[in-house]
This record gives sequence, structure tokens and C-alpha cells, in this order.
Amino acid sequence: MIYLDNAATTKPCALAFERAKEYVTEKFYNPSAMYKEGFAMQSELKKARSVLLSKIADESAFELIFTSCGTESDNQAIFSFAKRGNAVTTAGEHSAVSAPFAELKNRGICEPRIAPLEKDGRVNVQKLLDLIDEKTSFVSVMHVNNEMGAINDINQIAKLVKQKNPRVIFHSDGVQAYGKIPFRLAKEVDLYSVSAHKIGGLKGVGALIKRKSLVLPAYMIGGGQESGRRSGTENTFGIMQFAFAAENKFQTLKADYERLIEYRETLWNGLDQSIFTRISTQDGTPYILTVSAVGLRGEILLHMANDAGLIIGTGSACSSNAKSRYSKIALACGYDEKTADGVLRISFSQATQKEEILKAIEILNGVAFDLKKRMK
Ligand code: PLP
Repeated sequence: MIYLDNAATTKPCALAFERAKEYVTEKFYNPSAMYKEGFAMQSELKKARSVLLSKIADESAFELIFTSCGTESDNQAIFSFAKRGNAVTTAGEHSAVSAPFAELKNRGICEPRIAPLEKDGRVNVQKLLDLIDEKTSFVSVMHVNNEMGAINDINQIAKLVKQKNPRVIFHSDGVQAYGKIPFRLAKEVDLYSVSAHKIGGLKGVGALIKRKSLVLPAYMIGGGQESGRRSGTENTFGIMQFAFAAENKFQTLKADYERLIEYRETLWNGLDQSIFTRISTQDGTPYILTVSAVGLRGEILLHMANDAGLIIGTGSACSSNAKSRYSKIALACGYDEKTADGVLRISFSQATQKEEILKAIEILNGVAFDLKKRMK
């Protein structure tokens, strides 16, 4: 089976898994325990924290809080700081951000404002800035769009947002960017969410990176772990495996970036362009190619490809429970329903091989041709 749905999740890094095993078998101690084995675990966590943070941020200016997933990191950021006036986000956000924003309104906390997208999936920066006024408390703009692959220049956007209102707290969902896009956090970004399972880590491990001087209220209250900001006994195995996977992923980040651009373009050039239309643009992440088989149903093609030995996605895996059959993000980019219905997302990882790309071309062209023929 060829797996090209890596934006949904990646296969855990075997090397990182092997290295982390001892945190289940031998070093299983509670990091809060008062004996030396507990202290040793605490210092291992400190090292993991530093590995993960130093890859994208200056450790003297930022710190990292472990969470259970990217969704928790997004929720913690939003519900901690979108407290008054209005809060601004984009129409391209993952449900981990868009659903909490809807909840701000339901709970009467503050007024959510949604900035529109450009055709390629990036936020329209001018329209985002137009929504910001003196009452804006919080702004959230995703770094890499999980459906369209579009990259927002969040450092630049954060600067512009703070020029307009310096009191705004700026957050970015970096789940699809961390370990994939060459990037370092600018001081204007206050909060940044990451998730382990998108880069060879395990599901159920994430982190919220924050500017050190920003006071983050406790989100889960209990034993006072994570300096009181996120109580709960740490997932030591998951955290160590995340740090090892990140070490591994950042080592090949630049090489992966170049190689996957080539694979993505090979895949696109190999697809029958009388059937497929390209949705994601060339300047988006190399990890995602989004196309539409306009007039065909993406979901049916997904199942046919699955039967033929290829796993791909139709958009966000997390929106598969959504009521609408159309890609919400494709519609927000201005595509019509017919195009949005045919969306397929093909996403790569560090482990993706050229032969898999060539086979995927064959399978996708084959199933699309079959379905088109059947529909005549
Ligand atoms: N944000 C983005 C952009 C994502 O792609 C995802 C997962 O698909 C999430 C947040 C949620 O992350 P997690 O699965 O770790 O909760």
C-alpha cells in the first residue's frame, strides 16, 4: 500500500521509537517524583523541550509547554487570550482553530471576525488588517494550510498586525509547518502550536510555544506540571519520541524540501490534465499537492484509489465528519462546488519514495479515467 496522506498523520519514525523505548521499559518514573530517578526524568524532559524549541526559536525569548495535541495547543491559545472585544482569524483555519472561534461567539466571550482567503489559500493580508481595530484582543493566522498547502508569511503578518494594534496577542497554528518549512519565529509571534504526529512523532503529543514574557493562564489545573500552565503527568515516552523524531526530521529538512518539490511537480506533471486541475500552487508547501477532478467526486476517487493500493485524502481528515460534502476551504478560496467536490489532497513525508510517486500517477489516472467512463 502506498501512503500519501501524510498531512493527516505520518508513520512514526522507527529510529525515534527505538530510542524512546527505554522510557516505557526502564525510565518510566514520574518526572514530579522526589527521588533521583524522578529528577533524572525531569532533566530529560528539559533536554527534549530544548531540542524541540531551539529548532525554530531563540530559547532566551521563547519557551515550550507540552500538550496532548495540536488541537489542545490551539484551544489553549484561543481561550486564554481571546477574552474581550473581538478576535480575528482566517477562513482557512483547521477546525482546531475555527471551532473554538465559533465557540467564542456561542459563549458570548467576544466577537469572532474572519478574514477571507486568496485563491491560493493564503489569507488576504489587507482584509485581515482591515478587521483589526483598537478592540481586537487576539489574532490567529495558520502558518501552512493543511488543505491547500498555502504558506502564510506569519512573521511579516504578525509585524503588520502589531503595527496596527500593539496590544494584540498573535497566535499561529504551525502544525503543518513545524519540521517541514525552513523558518524561525520572529519576536512579534506570541504563540505557536505544533503537533508530533505530523513529523514522525506519535499521536497525542503536541506543544504550545510561547513568548517568555507573555503570562499564560493555567489551562488544566491540578498537579502544577509545565510550570503550572498545563497540569497532568507528562507523557514521557511520547515527548521523548517527539524530540527524537524532530531531531531526525530537522536534519533532513532542507534536503526533504528540495526533493519533495521535485516529487510534487513530477506527480502533477504525470497526472492527466484533461481530468485534473491543480489547486495548490507552486509556492506552497512541497509536502502537499491538492488537485481537483472537476465533475467527479473526490470521495469516490479516494475509495477507488484505496482499492488500487494508494491512500490519499480529500482535504482535512478532521473535517471528514463535517456535514457538507464540499471542501470548505476550497469554497473559501473561491472555487465552485463542482471543483470543491472533486478535491484530492496528496501529501508526502520524509519517507516518500520516487517509485511511490510514479505508481500514484498510474493509479490516479487509472481510477479517474474509469470513473469518468462510468459516468458517461
Ligand atoms: N492544525 C492543523 C493545521 C492540522 O493539520 C491539524 C491536524 O490535522 C491540527 C491542527 C490538529 O492537530 P492534532 O491532530 O495534533 O490535534
